[in-house]
Amino acid sequence: MAAGPGARGPRAAGGGRSLREARPRAVTPVTAPGRAERFRSLAETAFDILVIGGGISGAAVARDAARRGFRTALVEATDFAWGTSSRSSRLVHGGLRYLEHFELDLVFEASQERRTLLRIATHLVRPLEFHFPIFRDGRIGRRKLDAGMWLYDALSLFRNIERHQMLDTEAMLAREPGLRAEGLLGGARYFDAQVDDARLVVTTIVAAVEAGATLVNRAEVVRIDASDWPGHRALVRDAESGREVGVDALAIVNATGAWAEQILDRVAAGPRRPGPGDGSASAVRIRPSRGTHIHVARERVGHSGALIFEAPRDGRVMFILPWREDLTLIGTTDEFFEGPPHEVAATPGDIAYLLEATRGLFPASKLGPEDVISAWAGLRPLVAPPADGAEEGAVSREFEVHQHPPGVFTLSGGKLTSHRHMAEATVDRVQSFLAPAGVKPLRKVDTDKVPLPGARFRDLDALRGRIRARARAQGLERASADRLTRAYGTRANRVLDLVERTPRLGKRVVAERPHLLAEAVYSVRSEMALHVEDILFRRMRVGLETRSGTPEAARRVAEVVAPELDWTTERRTEEVKRALDFRAVDDGAIRELAARAKEGR
Ligand SMILES: Cc1cc2nc3c(=O)[nH]c(=O)nc-3n(C[C@H](O)[C@H](O)[C@H](O)COP(=O)(O)OP(=O)(O)OC[C@H]3O[C@@H](n4cnc5c(N)ncnc54)[C@H](O)[C@@H]3O)c2cc1C
Repeated sequence: MAAGPGARGPRAAGGGRSLREARPRAVTPVTAPGRAERFRSLAETAFDILVIGGGISGAAVARDAARRGFRTALVEATDFAWGTSSRSSRLVHGGLRYLEHFELDLVFEASQERRTLLRIATHLVRPLEFHFPIFRDGRIGRRKLDAGMWLYDALSLFRNIERHQMLDTEAMLAREPGLRAEGLLGGARYFDAQVDDARLVVTTIVAAVEAGATLVNRAEVVRIDASDWPGHRALVRDAESGREVGVDALAIVNATGAWAEQILDRVAAGPRRPGPGDGSASAVRIRPSRGTHIHVARERVGHSGALIFEAPRDGRVMFILPWREDLTLIGTTDEFFEGPPHEVAATPGDIAYLLEATRGLFPASKLGPEDVISAWAGLRPLVAPPADGAEEGAVSREFEVHQHPPGVFTLSGGKLTSHRHMAEATVDRVQSFLAPAGVKPLRKVDTDKVPLPGARFRDLDALRGRIRARARAQGLERASADRLTRAYGTRANRVLDLVERTPRLGKRVVAERPHLLAEAVYSVRSEMALHVEDILFRRMRVGLETRSGTPEAARRVAEVVAPELDWTTERRTEEVKRALDFRAVDDGAIRELAARAKEGR
């Protein structure tokens, strides 16, 4: 079997191996020490499918493929969910605003997926009541909104959480008393859902591991040799050790979102061009668009629920969303982005735009840069090209799967909401490609039925009650217990097991947030976190939920996970610095805006 980038092992496809004869593979350990074993097994196994990219798309493809019985690997260059999938508006939504562009298929499909996710990830995805206020000087009038709302209900086959309701001005103000009253013409109330996007990715990653896939983070694909199918070889570099291995797979799924073109440029199979693989008419082109969000304290805005509204400056549709018990998430901007994807960052202009829009809706808030707790930016991997002169918001969110060269499938576009469906469509394509080589699935796709890890329970309230009772017996606060239920579902018990064994892990990571130190240890042992940055920003999210507590949180987390990861004192210091550097990129924009405001610029 192949052991290094130079050597090629015997190919399974040529022999017409049938998966029906294959035995399920043992699950490789997800603990940090188990990572070396996982990285090694990348080189020692002939995979059916190698997935590149550990955002929601790649995670979902790996889960789907492994559940069908394909021998599946996934490599992620940084951390799982490091890319766009931890930088979204965190909505599982039909996408009301896509109705304006008549993307009815997209809304229909997303509405179905919203229902599926509410079922298979009940603890993570929660129904969210929205209000859409309309104003005399707005683009959208009452009649248009009502028609859109009916269509939205219809596209979910009238099976959304509740049907919409039109409200007059008085009713709207009764629900959101802080709203600008001037010119208000009432609006609508309807339902969508909210999710912690990074936790959805991590939970899907864990599901893929438990289905038998081999997943490695901090492992970057640097080259793909796709010149002589059957079989491709990807050269994968371990960012932790610098080691490189060759990974053999019959098919490759490029699920790298905004990086998709960069990956295709690393394929050695002749120049990239529209391919004969599936008759697709155009090469993949991604036109990334930057979207920025900010957190502020909920009391500073003065809203009570979720709002969707038109930004006063340009009429773009935006969100003000409740986050946790006490925070608000405001987003988003939409600007074409030209630079390298990993350099995307919030700009002072983005933050100013979000603050201005919020002040327009809630004038009494007088929200300013000093209110911003944190900011972050992500790239929408939109499928190009738009028609000449098309605006960012008008480029399709629809997803596409291109095959070129044969056996290399690139997934582009799409949404967090529709990830499961996108993955199913992608694996269907790969399955058809593999069938003539005798590689067939063991099982039918079932990802819409099987609950994600932690979601195998009947009644969320009953689960919450049990976790609260157990946490109370351990001396923990209700806020921490509820957070555990939301983030981990039934697996909150595993976090509580850690507290039971080591009571000091029941302490908060930072005084103002309910996150527990035990979660940090859990994320290293069970969720493949390798760095303090991974823990603070993508496993627990606490790093963005405090204005000044991140340094303390980083130090305390480094201290409790150091024995798990064999860190020296110097390494702990480095880890803290690295986590703070991650935040500093966007904090710089907040500071610059505050300085400009002070100088009256
Ligand atoms: C501002 C904003 C708001 C959004 N809001 C919503 C929303 O509310 N609801 C919704 O449904 N959708 C939303 N979306 C869309 C949604 O977030 C994206 O469609 C989705 O997250 C894309 O996931 P992905 O896995 O394709 O890409 P990513 O999450 O970017 O993952 C790609 C991964 O590939 C990795 N990678 C890159 N190069 C390599 C390499 N050489 N080797 C290995 N790995 C590599 C990257 O590190 C990255 O982690 C939003 C998008 C943005 C930008």
